[in-house]
Amino acid sequence: MLKIGITGGIGSGKSTVCRVFSVMGIPVFEADKVARKLMDTDEEIHEKLVRLFGAAVYLPDQTVNRKYLAGIVFKDPSLLAKLNEIVHPVVRKTFFDWCERQKSPYIIHEAAILFESGFYKMMDKTITVVTNEDERIHRVMKRDGITIELVKERIKNQWSDEERMKLADFVIGNNDDQLIIPQIIEIDKKIKANG
Ligand code: ATP
Repeated sequence: MLKIGITGGIGSGKSTVCRVFSVMGIPVFEADKVARKLMDTDEEIHEKLVRLFGAAVYLPDQTVNRKYLAGIVFKDPSLLAKLNEIVHPVVRKTFFDWCERQKSPYIIHEAAILFESGFYKMMDKTITVVTNEDERIHRVMKRDGITIELVKERIKNQWSDEERMKLADFVIGNNDDQLIIPQIIEIDKKIKANG
């Protein structure tokens, strides 16, 4: 079973593209969503986060205080790296356990920092979703109700489209004037032909 990694800048449309693959019957592992869930539920992660960021990193109901955490790590790349070092190994194990249970010609692993984390090396092929920056900023502000400054700060912590495109096997364009479904069908055909 082939492992296909999907990435792209914040607001590029990774989740939107993954929803199409999912409707086509392809299992999708949403690494960022799984990471968020594990931060709320995994005891080892809980302990390490409290040690690194203090008890305030968890809310009284023991879920992560995401606003507090984002406020810290998006301003300090070294703390963001430490956070990833705590969370990623657990996500990785969860992913490989999940793969064992899938029955499909290929599966999709969706992650915002697939290339930055080096996890792309575990994939057979990679796809990056590319949307121009102004459009991404506009979509994320609308989706999350956050300021332009906050979106730009997050963009600064990620690779550029150029860097992602250099490593990706496939590129899906998701600007206003582009249709994603024909691009996805084309990639699906190529993956199945190579598998
Ligand atoms: P993040 O990195 O923040 O998780 P993402 O790359 O997964 O984002 P999506 O959540 O799929 O991006 O898309 C961002 C927003 O833009 C969503 O509200 C989505 O509905 C919208 N969107 C995605 N593609 C398009 C499109 N082609 N036209 C208009 N809106 C779109």
